[in-house]
Amino acid sequence: MSESTFPEKLVDKFGRHVDYIRLSVTDRCDFRCVYCMTEDMTFIPRREILSLEELCQIASAFTELGVKKIRLTGGEPLVRTDVMTLIQKLGALPGLQELLLTTNGSQLTTYAEPLKKAGVNRINISIDSLQADRFQRISRVGKLDKVLAGIDAAVAQGFDRIRLNSVVMKGYNEDEVLALTDYALDRHVDIAFIEEMPLGEASDHAREDTTCSNAWVRAQIEKKYQLVDSPARTAGPSRYSQVAGYRSRIGFISPVTHNFCEDCNRVRITVEGRLLLCLGNEHSVDLRAILRDGSKDMDDLKRALVAAMEIKPERHHFYDKDHAQPVRLMNMTGG
Ligand code: SAM
Ligand code: SF4
Repeated sequence: MSESTFPEKLVDKFGRHVDYIRLSVTDRCDFRCVYCMTEDMTFIPRREILSLEELCQIASAFTELGVKKIRLTGGEPLVRTDVMTLIQKLGALPGLQELLLTTNGSQLTTYAEPLKKAGVNRINISIDSLQADRFQRISRVGKLDKVLAGIDAAVAQGFDRIRLNSVVMKGYNEDEVLALTDYALDRHVDIAFIEEMPLGEASDHAREDTTCSNAWVRAQIEKKYQLVDSPARTAGPSRYSQVAGYRSRIGFISPVTHNFCEDCNRVRITVEGRLLLCLGNEHSVDLRAILRDGSKDMDDLKRALVAAMEIKPERHHFYDKDHAQPVRLMNMTGG
């Protein structure tokens, strides 16, 4: 394949157009959320993680193949040293239409302004409780007031959209669905309720005991508000509704109870440079090996991305007992 024969877009063997990548910039984090990490995490040795330059090379290869949207995630992206230099470079990539970030919000009082200036369009901020003691129980170490101040700082910057992400779990925060909804509506930001996913083993609880279905979450909100389904649909697991008179959208991310694979448009890159073709399967390609092989260049990287489309699985099999589940935790996967 010579350079001129590269396709303008990435299409997998089921005809799905991949134009969205989620790039994990670190596996490290300043929180230890119970559904995401174990308390005593061992992180990947530094030499094994991609440098900022390597992350940028991957992003650039994808945008040359028609990718329009990049979400930075982790781990906590804002704890990576010098992450702003990477974000500024990504913000300037030709062809990129949307640069997005998912963060726990703990550093946003410092970073909201530079992120906006670097061209980040939208931010997702995770918050599972509005009660300080519970927030700490869920995040194990996080401070609620820092995150609330971070949300205010992001709102003040006027990003295109801000979305709060809340994982609802029985025994932790299931009675806060309405309080979290009210908080989002008051600030004119979106909120998405996420079903806990069985990625790796949770050390403090059995996931079957805590997982709340989004049908149940929605019913809690409908005790107070009439929800109208919104036409806004992403090619992912989110479905949105609105409350009449409010700008905020209320999303329901249901990877467990609904299969969203049919129109999947995304792939993930772990911080070790593994290209994951599906959240719920282990199919992957080692991009780091290509980047660190002195005999290979950008065209080889692009060829590998085009070839990878052939192994993107048709669907995930969460909670299908006959199917092996991924052993990766979410911070390794890139949320
Ligand atoms: N540290 C950032 C944050 O917390 O937003 C970005 C990475 S985090 C892995 C991305 C998202 O994944 C967060 O909204 C988090 O709540 C969610 N998450 C982590 N583990 C999960 C799990 N097992 N099931 C469902 N959502 C999960
Ligand atoms: Fe850190 Fe985000 Fe995982 Fe919580 S969900 S431990 S903030 S990476």
